[in-house]
Amino acid sequence: TGPSDLVIVYHRLPYDEIVENGRVRRVVPQSPNGIMPTLLSFFADGRRGAWVAWGVNDPKRGPFESHTPVDPLRYPRLTAARVALSKQDVDVFYRHFSKEAFWPTLHTFWERATFREDHWQVFLKINRLFAERTAAEAAEGATVWIHDYNLWMVPATLRELRPDLKIAFFHHTYFPSADVFNVIPWRRTIVGSLLQCDYVGFHIPRQVENFVDVVRGAAPVRVVERRSCAPRFVTYGCAVGLENYSTCIDVGDRRIRLGAHPVGTDLGRIEQALSRTPVQKRMAELRQSLNGQRLILSVERLDYTKGTLEKLRAFEKLLEEHPELLGKVTLITICVPAAQEMTVYRNLQHGIEQAVGRINGRYSRVGWTPVQFFFRSLPFEEVVAYYAMADLMWITPLRDGLNLVAKEYVATQGLSGGRGVLVLSEFAGAAAELKGAILTNPHDVMDLKNGCYLGLNMGRAEASARLRQLFDIVSHYDVRRWGDDFLGATRTKAAQPVRRI
Ligand code: UDP
Repeated sequence: TGPSDLVIVYHRLPYDEIVENGRVRRVVPQSPNGIMPTLLSFFADGRRGAWVAWGVNDPKRGPFESHTPVDPLRYPRLTAARVALSKQDVDVFYRHFSKEAFWPTLHTFWERATFREDHWQVFLKINRLFAERTAAEAAEGATVWIHDYNLWMVPATLRELRPDLKIAFFHHTYFPSADVFNVIPWRRTIVGSLLQCDYVGFHIPRQVENFVDVVRGAAPVRVVERRSCAPRFVTYGCAVGLENYSTCIDVGDRRIRLGAHPVGTDLGRIEQALSRTPVQKRMAELRQSLNGQRLILSVERLDYTKGTLEKLRAFEKLLEEHPELLGKVTLITICVPAAQEMTVYRNLQHGIEQAVGRINGRYSRVGWTPVQFFFRSLPFEEVVAYYAMADLMWITPLRDGLNLVAKEYVATQGLSGGRGVLVLSEFAGAAAELKGAILTNPHDVMDLKNGCYLGLNMGRAEASARLRQLFDIVSHYDVRRWGDDFLGATRTKAAQPVRRI
């Protein structure tokens, strides 16, 4: 056993390493979504812990350091415990296998997935290394919190090595229905590993239900307890409290608790950004450049799951059907580039560039360009400036585990006294939570276009009321509450058996 009472197992470190003049400097990055700072905050009280992540074993950078302090002043007893991987292993594990096999399947694009047995073997090897490192760090009876599908196979080895541990797992991406998940050749092995956990969390109840169905396909399941979303409080006629959803199942001799924990956003960070002079300057510049036009905003990574092409087609249709909007609205899309070496992303980028060119070629006038497309990643504070200025936020994923951008927009508008409209795909996990958004189906170009049109024409009173409702939801379950809630849930005991299915 090791010294740590809480071990976080996350594929990456909570800091970036910058090499300067041959020396390595550690910088805790300004992660926009607040997940890293939230996880780190559990160690601010001096709790003894470890953060297990991979590090590239590159002899050119000197001997591999398996243990390093994260930030001795803020987290005095937290150590980064690193798994030494070669660059080649990282490439297979993270860039190829995860993105080519699991990512498409999890997002229901299973026909895009390629499953390679040699890659799976690398995945197993790396997951085993993570489990061994974790087993060496954890104190007797410690809690281990494992993050996301890259580490699906860690619980299996960890349980074998350390039956005493409390193992919790949070799934950050979408979890599909059994019909889709079962396409994965190694599905039974993966489910078998997850069943070694004591607690497994997902964003929303649907994802929990999908998981239970997948387990049912592999083994008989007895549902011991099911608590649906008894609303914690009711605001503007809308129930809030997905986090109250939980299920407890028995499979063989194991009892596993499952729950919904939609990740929240860090409102303090957004409030701080809004008060900063450079952000206010950026907002003023944007206001000036828009010159009275209404701003439709879209912020996303370049990925076929995000529905960017579908959005552009719907925008084109909108301009076609509503000539009164010409010169009056601008669509700004901030699209964070993806790994260039993957053909699927290169093709998507090409398709997007063509669509933007076509729309702008067709409708631009002197002094007005309908689509402004930025293929780059902006610092979070600048994104906040865009959120604050946008009249309408247009989020169109074909499938998304949650979608934090939706919450960040609501938080920014709420904190800056705006009444912007959120138009959100019903296929984003956040749609289950964000009652008050206009929901649209991104597979239907007319529905997408209508949703945007409805949002542009929404009356001031309705827009304000909807935003208030959304802001209540987003501020109630922020990222801090998400973290506390998840850790708290891993400690609760299940009730007595109530029914057999
Ligand atoms: N983001 C950013 N700069 C950009 C675009 C996006 O910092 O130029 C951040 C955004 O604020 C959000 C995250 O990237 O926190 C995207 O998270 P989301 O859940 O919406 O989608 P994901 O990329 O995780 O699928």
